[in-house]
Amino acid sequence: MQYTWTEIEQHIEACTRCPLGQTRKRPVMGRGNHQAQIMLIAEAPGGQEDQQGIPFVGSSGEILDRLLHDCGLTREEIYITNILKCHPPGNRDPKEEEKEACIPYLKCETLLLKPKIIVCLGRVAAQRIILPDFKITRQHGTWIYRKNCALTATYHPSAILRDPSKYEVVKRDFCEIAQKQAGL
Ligand code: SF4
Repeated sequence: MQYTWTEIEQHIEACTRCPLGQTRKRPVMGRGNHQAQIMLIAEAPGGQEDQQGIPFVGSSGEILDRLLHDCGLTREEIYITNILKCHPPGNRDPKEEEKEACIPYLKCETLLLKPKIIVCLGRVAAQRIILPDFKITRQHGTWIYRKNCALTATYHPSAILRDPSKYEVVKRDFCEIAQKQAGL
């Protein structure tokens, strides 16, 4: 059965399929253009997202906006979401059982959006969506193709916060993504 965007959001609002439903402040549904060709997928909401219920706010969000701007993209033309819709305490990595519990929501979002390009932000998302042994350091910026969708991965913007020298590397990946969209 296929849910509507509103129904997915309602399910996430009430969700207790994993223990994060007890500790989150606010669940964080994906946001963006429902006709977008590009879907960005990160691992989980951070602390500020947990407060506001919106993906990619705060410092990581500012870096994401800068990357998009530098490559001629805007948030208004993409859809952005996470594998987990609730914040793991202390920003720890999501547990396997949490990812399994939450992945049906991502599947519903993907079925509705039908993206032409999926971009995994960071190792955790790349290993869940692209390949279980995906190495973000060596394989970021590479592409694979599934059905009518091109998939790639790059570093999560929070990696740039920790190491600003990664900005140019991630910018190159984002500019390739923009070029890929322009060629669709
Ligand atoms: S992380 Fe996902 S599965 Fe777990 S409570 Fe939140 S919405 Fe439900």
